Amino acid sequence: MTDATLPSPEPGERLEQDVESAVLAAAATAVDAAAEAVDIVPLDSPRRLLLVHAHPDDETIGTGATMAKYAAENVLVTLVTCTLGEEGEVLVPEIAHLAADRDDGLGQHRVGELAAAMEALRVKDHRYLGGMGRWRDSGMMGTPANERSDCFWRADLDEAVRELVAVIREVRPQVVVTYDENGGYGHPDHIQAHRVTVAAFEASSDPAYAPELGERWQPSKLYWTAVPKSVLQAGIDALKESGGTDFFGVDSADDLPFGVADDVITTEVDARDHLDAKVAAMRAHKSQIEVDGPFFALSDHVGQRAFGREHYILVRGERGPGSETSDRESDLFAGVEHP
Ligand SMILES: [Zn+2]
Repeated sequence: MTDATLPSPEPGERLEQDVESAVLAAAATAVDAAAEAVDIVPLDSPRRLLLVHAHPDDETIGTGATMAKYAAENVLVTLVTCTLGEEGEVLVPEIAHLAADRDDGLGQHRVGELAAAMEALRVKDHRYLGGMGRWRDSGMMGTPANERSDCFWRADLDEAVRELVAVIREVRPQVVVTYDENGGYGHPDHIQAHRVTVAAFEASSDPAYAPELGERWQPSKLYWTAVPKSVLQAGIDALKESGGTDFFGVDSADDLPFGVADDVITTEVDARDHLDAKVAAMRAHKSQIEVDGPFFALSDHVGQRAFGREHYILVRGERGPGSETSDRESDLFAGVEHP
């Protein structure tokens, strides 16, 4: 873990927390400056991976270990985030005033958190769909945030798709990752990210579609992120055994709004070697993620280990070979030809 840049304070130590905030802010500034200075030439990297996520922190929670692993292998990892996560709940009392119903400053704060998280994952290419702040976090269905005309849920789909096609044609990823049609768990921004990504995946390969956005590009594979029910159940059982708090208040993985049957999982990326980077990135998303919560505190770090393997469902493209022990792919690029 990069403790030098991301110190973890004892709870309640105000001074330490201020120091950590300052360090994170400095890291964010450094990353922003680097992003402007570094001119990425996508085709310099033979393997290119594009991930489309809804809010800052989704990339780390669902795919952070995968991103760190591929970045470490010199794959060009490009993250597109669709909103700034303005409507998120603020877990840190000191900055509770940033919440949407108070100062409404959470989006800008999360830009810094995301930049620090990318620093931790060593991912250099991160962008906001349509530019920073183009679309706002939609909040949950039925809330006032979801009625706003500037929210991503109400985005003009054609415009959003064009923005993503431009990125796909520039970066030319062989592999694209986003959520399933339910957005994983039903959040409107996740559902919208799914719709936009699927449409852009198709459109980018059509030479008749917006030729001014660049030469057509056909990515080889499209994946949904997924959490197998067995993994969720193991977490629930481990928490119960430890006598700790319950896991989202349920006894069975069947009662959770996310989680898929194990047999639909096509791909398991074992990135436990990069778990430290993922945990550091989770710490960077301090306003949203409580890394020192009960799940993480489990003895022998069951919780942390569970986060080192990430799962996917291949929905477009040829499935690559499995291994001796499993017919699941272990590599998102399995079977993909690249220069
Ligand atoms: Zn999200």
